[in-house]
Amino acid sequence: MFTRNWRVAVCLAAVLGVFPGCATQGNGEEGSGRLSIAKATYGTAPEGGNADLYTITNANGMVAQITNYGGTVTSLLVPDAAGALADVTLGYPSLEGYFENKPYLGCLVGRFGNRIAKGRFTLDGKEYVLAVNNESNHLHGGIKGFNKVLWDAKPAYREGAVGLKLTYVSVDGEEGYPGTLETTVHYWLTNANELEIVYEAVTDKATPVNLTYHGYFNLDGQGEGDILDHVMMINASRYTPVDETLIPTGELAPVANTPLDFTMPVAIGERINADHEQIKRGNGYDHNYVLNSQDGSLALAARVLAPGSGRVMEVYTTQPGVQFYSGNFLDGTITGKEGKVYKQRYGFCLETQHYPDSVNQPGFPSCILEPGKKYYQKTVYRFTTR
Ligand code: BGC
Repeated sequence: MFTRNWRVAVCLAAVLGVFPGCATQGNGEEGSGRLSIAKATYGTAPEGGNADLYTITNANGMVAQITNYGGTVTSLLVPDAAGALADVTLGYPSLEGYFENKPYLGCLVGRFGNRIAKGRFTLDGKEYVLAVNNESNHLHGGIKGFNKVLWDAKPAYREGAVGLKLTYVSVDGEEGYPGTLETTVHYWLTNANELEIVYEAVTDKATPVNLTYHGYFNLDGQGEGDILDHVMMINASRYTPVDETLIPTGELAPVANTPLDFTMPVAIGERINADHEQIKRGNGYDHNYVLNSQDGSLALAARVLAPGSGRVMEVYTTQPGVQFYSGNFLDGTITGKEGKVYKQRYGFCLETQHYPDSVNQPGFPSCILEPGKKYYQKTVYRFTTR
């Protein structure tokens, strides 16, 4: 558990230059604290190049630490009802952990989040072949996805929020995808205790694009047990059932009368071992939900309450889908921050997205970005307490 003193320590350390390469900037906000951003050297990426760690603090003492390596949120300190801060995201103790990062802890995912069947798709009459890096399928952008590149980073400011502007140019043919994609992701920490993520991209050739953030949350604090008692609501009456390799069958099936129904709040653990084919295939929850809002407006996708700490996270998105992944493949082999061992279901993900394999599924909303068009998606993780 962290306290408000931690934030003070961070700001002081920033001002005093305790972190190597540290610089800090802020704007004078009203309230108990002030928005600030401090930059420190984090390490060297595998192919060379500096990874920095930005510490962003809002007026309430909420803190996000983000590195330009993979656009990764390395920690997120969120207050409980008494104002005590806990780090609610899983991550590694240092940069090196993120080099392999098999579970994709905390990173941005691109060019295409989630699976593409057999790593193949056809666009404008041409077949493209991508890496097969997840059994028989392509997952999360390939061998070196957007989670393994250094993004250019610049602090960003707006009324009531401070953030980080990340840019990355993915060249034509990178990981087998067509077109040079100029990508911008803004992370904002707002004084309303929100982590807001805005994704933008343009391309010079038609290409599938599906950008997301792969944070693992435990609202009681990272490493503090599993998330099975967290009570979840997902604003979706349908989901996309999957085959044995977790590729959607193409159907949009009702969640009603299945263990996948989260239209009313229910503990994640209540039906996670249900004798249901879809639950068995996912080894728990690993499913894309078809959000009830499909018009591209920012709408509530999910709400999660941790009864122990009283922390509540709401997810709002412009995206048509969200992948609810209950951390089924965490297996205790990763020792994360503060020596915490991440066992099965110690974290859950809510990855806002277009549906998996949508490049091969004509019945799904299109994930194709055309030249001259702008990709724009926004997701907000809002933290409150009960
Ligand atoms: C996928 C899981 C996968 C996890 C880590 C999630 O987005 O749905 O199947 O194991 O990412 O790669």
